[in-house]
Amino acid sequence: MLNMNHIVGTHDIVMITLDTLRYDAAKLEEANCPNLCGSGGWEKRHSPGSFTYAAHHAFFGGFLPTPATTDKTAHVRLFHTKNTGLRTHPHTWLFDAPDLVSGLQEAGYRTVCIGGVIFFTKKNKLAKVLPGYFQESYWRMTFGVTNPRSAEHQVNHALKLLEKADPAQRLFLFLNISAMHGPNHYFVPGAKQDSVETQRAALRYVDSQLGVLFDAMRNRGKTLVLAFSDHGTAYGEDGYEGHRLAHEVVWNVPYREFILN
Ligand SMILES: [Zn+2]
Repeated sequence: MLNMNHIVGTHDIVMITLDTLRYDAAKLEEANCPNLCGSGGWEKRHSPGSFTYAAHHAFFGGFLPTPATTDKTAHVRLFHTKNTGLRTHPHTWLFDAPDLVSGLQEAGYRTVCIGGVIFFTKKNKLAKVLPGYFQESYWRMTFGVTNPRSAEHQVNHALKLLEKADPAQRLFLFLNISAMHGPNHYFVPGAKQDSVETQRAALRYVDSQLGVLFDAMRNRGKTLVLAFSDHGTAYGEDGYEGHRLAHEVVWNVPYREFILN
């Protein structure tokens, strides 16, 4: 595993939540996602939440998706809060803050959120809670689920911030990518309904937009990328539709961590 005590402070960190992306859909597109899967395939993990709001509170608390294995020795966490009394792995980075985001801020990071789905819109008080973890947060209508070029708009916003960013200050850049969330049928011409097929097409589109972002991060220096889904979604399995419910198509999520080379 990565030794986070050698990464925090020396690397920028990009956390990307691929909102609603199912594990099975992600696996089927590995060969078509050179930016996300160029250095390896998706790991199967279990999400700590069945919908955006719950899952992101856990992530920002340092609880990333859990490896889908009964081998507890594989359940080493990258981040953990200090002073719990629990024994932690020597490669785990410990933060003395109520959440990971402010923990990274205390370690000198500039923390930036680029929102996507409804819980990041800042349009009402509840939709300000998750962006409120960050020093800076951004949301535009064009970043949301109804825009077929949402990922391009989100990435372009990040690029503009990176152009002006101090190269000496480490950056924690979080993006909630909205394209795989419903509606995603418009990624397949003629499709009338969301499905695994249309979500796969949305993922291919998202991957095609991430290359320029990763290049911009490479230009700044060393970068850790954490890319994973917050939850999947049901397309009729066992009669279920959507998420915020317990089903394997919801709790199984794709996960990757890699250093940009
Ligand atoms: Zn979500």
